[in-house]
Parts: sequence; C-alpha cells; structure tokens
Amino acid sequence: MDYLVRFMGDKYNVIGLACVTTGLVDEARRLHGTSRTASAALGRALTGGLLMGALLKRGQRVGLKFEGSGPLKKIIVEAESDGSVRGFVGVPGVEVPLNDEKLNVSGALGSEGSLTVIKDLGLKEPYRGIVKLLTGEIAEDIAYYFSESEQIPSAVGLGVFVKPDGKVSAAGGFLIQSLPPSEERTVEQLIGNIRGMPFVTDLLREGKTPEDILAMIFSGIPYQVLGRRDLSLRCTCSRERIERVLISLGSEELRRIIAEQGETEVTCEFCRTSYHFTSKELGDLRREITAAD
Ligand SMILES: [Zn+2]
Repeated sequence: MDYLVRFMGDKYNVIGLACVTTGLVDEARRLHGTSRTASAALGRALTGGLLMGALLKRGQRVGLKFEGSGPLKKIIVEAESDGSVRGFVGVPGVEVPLNDEKLNVSGALGSEGSLTVIKDLGLKEPYRGIVKLLTGEIAEDIAYYFSESEQIPSAVGLGVFVKPDGKVSAAGGFLIQSLPPSEERTVEQLIGNIRGMPFVTDLLREGKTPEDILAMIFSGIPYQVLGRRDLSLRCTCSRERIERVLISLGSEELRRIIAEQGETEVTCEFCRTSYHFTSKELGDLRREITAAD
C-alpha cells in the first residue's frame, strides 16, 4: 500500500515525486521501538531517502547520515533505486518537549550538525556530499543539500503523523526539482502552489493520494504521469554478510572474542535481526583468515 508516483512537466524540465509511506514508517517504529518524536524523525528520513532513491538509476543506492547536537544523536538511512529502504536512529527512546504542540524533530536531532549523502552509483568510488544542517527538520535539510551540494533547486515536503498511542497513522512526502533550462514563470508557479498547500500529513489524513498531492503542486503546469512504484522497508543483511564483517575484524580480534566470550551475537542495526555464532563457528571463520594469509 506504500507507493511513489512520478510526474514530469510537459514543456519544462520539472520533475515531481510524491509518496505515501505510512505502512513502512509504522513498521520501522515497531521494529525499533521508537518514541513519538524519534518515529517522526526516522519516518521523515526514510521517506526522504526513498524520494532521493527514486532519482537514481537501477542498481544504485543512496545513504543519508544526519548527525546532530541533540539527544537523538543521529539518523541513518539507506535507500535503493528499486523502492526499498532501511534505517535507524541513535537513541530510539528519546523524549523532548513538544514545540508549539508539535513533535519537535529539530529539538531531538539538534539544529547544529551535518547531513552526509553517499551515493553508490556503481562507480569505483561512491559520491559523497556533506552540508551543515539547516534546521534539523529533515525536509529543509535535504532541500538545502540539493541546492548547495548538487546545485539543483529543489522543494521537499515530508510529514509523519504519530498518534498519541505512538502508532504512525500517516506518512509521506514530495520532492520537486527544476532542471536547467528552467523557466522562471513555471518555478514561481510551483513555489506559489507549494506555499498555498496544507501540510503533507494533513493532506494524507484527509485521504489525498500522492497523485492528488502532485496534481496540486503542478496546478497550472501541464504534466504527464511517468509511473508508479511500490515501496517497502527491507534490509540487505544476511548471515554471509555478517560473517564477512567478523572476518574483517581480523584473526587477533576473533581470537580475543573466542577467548573472552566463547560465542557471540551480532545484531543488525537496521533491522534488529540477531545472528548467533558459536565458538566453533568463530574458530572456523578465524581459520579462513589464516588460510587466506
Ligand atoms: Zn538487517
């Protein structure tokens, strides 16, 4: 039921993406046991990651790392071009006072800090861009990243509605980009349309779809609908991957773990899956390293 739609201006180079992510944000909330504010922060970042991932080509992926001075500490998100995403926050149980009766995401993350964007485009080295946090509210920070680091004027709206009982009942967002050659009148029309719009969460709670949201934003601008894609929360971890991580620790570190703990449990931060290794299995991994040497 979570999906993303893509619009494109008929005459001018305007791209519009909008999505609903209520199901996957609530799933992430249950998985990580996040407080209401942490759910809003993680949900906005997951949604932003999916919107950015939708701009990539097949097989490419984008990582977002928000690091702030606030008690939430950080938000890490990875999104694939196929519509899957995963993420976690530094302190899931964070509690901060409401701001004007709204969940205070920037108060949790902190307005001082940075946003690092890492794009794996299948090249030798990943692309990396870093900007200071503009507000710590996530959407503005992503828009700021695009204008500062990629020189692409962008408008980003993200919203997560968390009920008093902690459940997420609405989540989604949009991303609009104007690529050169841009036409001033079209850009002004878009900005005016976005300014006049209610919040994304209000629209979703009224039952508006991503198509409705983009139609409002493109009001007065001829456009075509390019397509729709399903979205999901999905991790890429596996026992094999965790084994590679353990091997990368090196023979000496593995020897220490076997001597001190005998066995070990490795938990994936993205999906909370635990992988158990007996001392015999650790010993086998250690022998693989020694054999490679
Ligand atoms: Zn995982």
